[in-house]
Amino acid sequence: MAKKNNGKVYYSFDEIGQELFGLKPYKRVTRDKQKLESQKEKFLGTCPHCGEPLKYVYGTNVLACNNDKCKGKETVITDATGEETTIYRPFYKMVSEKGLMIGTTIFEEEDK
Ligand SMILES: [Zn+2]
Repeated sequence: MAKKNNGKVYYSFDEIGQELFGLKPYKRVTRDKQKLESQKEKFLGTCPHCGEPLKYVYGTNVLACNNDKCKGKETVITDATGEETTIYRPFYKMVSEKGLMIGTTIFEEEDK
């Protein structure tokens, strides 16, 4: 439940702390570079079609395959006349709201 203050709605304790008590944003990202790399690797995972690590689209909840040589997912579509066409869709996957938070945190430094 969000806490209300003069009509303003707060969604996290961080927001309340920063606005009402002037606290600095709490940095959740590890300083251990090796650990951070392993966290990124785990977060991204790999493309099931080419095996390359996925790329995080910063600020979104999307992880996408960025490999030029990857054809992506094969899909056969049938039109109204019954003719089949094979198309390839680039692979991407969406993460949860929590995943979005993790992504923006661990990839923050790269974005700047
Ligand atoms: Zn791929």
